[in-house]
Amino acid sequence: MKIVMLGPPGAGKGTQADALSEKMEILHISTGDMFRRAVKDQTAMGLEAKKYMDSGALVPDEVTIGIVRERLAMRDCAKGFILDGFPRTAYQAEALDGILGELEGAMDAVIYISVDTETLIGRLSGRRICKNCSALYHVSYNPPKKEGVCDKCGGELYQRDDDQEETVRRRLEVYNSQTLPLVGYYRDKGLLTEIHGNQRREKVTEDILAALGRSG
Ligand code: ADP
Ligand code: ADP
Ligand code: ZN
Repeated sequence: MKIVMLGPPGAGKGTQADALSEKMEILHISTGDMFRRAVKDQTAMGLEAKKYMDSGALVPDEVTIGIVRERLAMRDCAKGFILDGFPRTAYQAEALDGILGELEGAMDAVIYISVDTETLIGRLSGRRICKNCSALYHVSYNPPKKEGVCDKCGGELYQRDDDQEETVRRRLEVYNSQTLPLVGYYRDKGLLTEIHGNQRREKVTEDILAALGRSG
């Protein structure tokens, strides 16, 4: 299956993509994680991307589409994948159609997780990520067993620079102006399912699986 997770920053795209990836045994591909990895490794692309990420802006389309095209062409993607954080602009969505066409595949579903703005801000300000495996936590809603330590790998948890309040506001604006129009784009194609993200994590996962025609 080829699935796109759509929704504002903090909606739970990464959290749900992790859960689905485990249950359905398909790859979770997060452009945000790919960029953060490149920043950590200090590659030329990472250094370029960092400038945009730090200010809450989007990394330019050419760069982003390039890394996605490369990643989706890898053999491990042939069985399917969950795209988290891509596409984020109309141009990226059209490019994705082209890439999938080249690979002789098509999108199966777009899962749009909707959550109100106040909840998003609370989620983003408490989000913590594992430095090592990118597992997601929240200081109140999904705390690790031991403070600051990843349950899965023992890695150190950190707060993303762009989860500071001012950058969060900018990212929400960017989402509303550049990404929200994709809801209509995919609805018109008959691919969109809206899921209410303002529920417990497990219930959101159940709703997504049901929408995909799978039981938990
Ligand atoms: P969130 O958890 O808010 O959805 P991500 O981890 O997906 O954030 O993305 C973090 C940052 O990485 C974005 O603010 C943006 O700068 C960059 N980024 C990730 N995906 C894309 C994309 N598809 N297009 C452009 N920039 C992106
Ligand atoms: P996104 O990838 O859409 O930016 P994340 O999956 O990173 O969102 O989730 C943002 C924050 O909200 C994380 O700290 C995560 O643990 C928390 N979170 C995710 N889903 C839920 C939920 N259903 N209820 C409460 N908190 C959640
Ligand atoms: Zn970890």
